[in-house]
Amino acid sequence: MSKFHFSGLLTVVAVALSAWLLGGVSRWIVPGAIILIYLFLLSLGVILMRLQFFCPVFFRGACESKQVALTFDDGPDPDSTPALLDLLREKGLPATFFCVGQRVEKFPEIVRRMQAEGHTIGNHTYAHSGFTNFYRTSRLVREISRASDVIEKVTGVRPEFYRPPVGLSNPNLARAVKRLNMTVVGWQCGLGDRRAKTSGSIVNRILKKITGGGIIALHDQGVPTEKLIATVSQLIDGVGNAGYKFVGLEQLREEQR
Ligand SMILES: [Zn+2]
Repeated sequence: MSKFHFSGLLTVVAVALSAWLLGGVSRWIVPGAIILIYLFLLSLGVILMRLQFFCPVFFRGACESKQVALTFDDGPDPDSTPALLDLLREKGLPATFFCVGQRVEKFPEIVRRMQAEGHTIGNHTYAHSGFTNFYRTSRLVREISRASDVIEKVTGVRPEFYRPPVGLSNPNLARAVKRLNMTVVGWQCGLGDRRAKTSGSIVNRILKKITGGGIIALHDQGVPTEKLIATVSQLIDGVGNAGYKFVGLEQLREEQR
């Protein structure tokens, strides 16, 4: 039973019991307060995927591990992604790219290069709509499947990992990934890279938060190439100095088992 179902059930029982047992004004105030607390928890569950309120979310491997994983969202981008792939090849590091289906159709050769160089390709929906979180289950299944179809056509491999746009979750997401047998991937630290003024500020924020098994999330699209390369270069040095090693998502998950 998910936290969503459990807390929902608990709320119904608590509201019914308090309305039945209490008298006077409390009969209204207490159930009202319980419902408000539940709605607050529900909102937190939608915003903070790592709470795993609706379904299991892979956002960190084993804490005692000295391994971390690097992930990039929203690509491929014809300018920044090849430059990033050059850097990763030079350093000999694996990463996971959560690609947008439409962009995979547009730049298939970049995705084939990702695969040829040992990176993992994840699903980040077909269109990356800001309304994805409002899709009904059937539409969400179609949206994710369409991206998986495109990625499979280009690489010959159907993605196993899915990261929702904007990192929001809800009961429809839980039903969709269960139906598609996919793993939802969150992140332990990162992002905010489009807003941040300097690479140094992004890297410092990540290094303060990172722990063993951590999944780092950045964008390889919508960020100036120079800034992206500077960020990832500094991050690679900082993470290495902290004693961590970059591994692929699959390996990070194996460590957790
Ligand atoms: Zn995204």
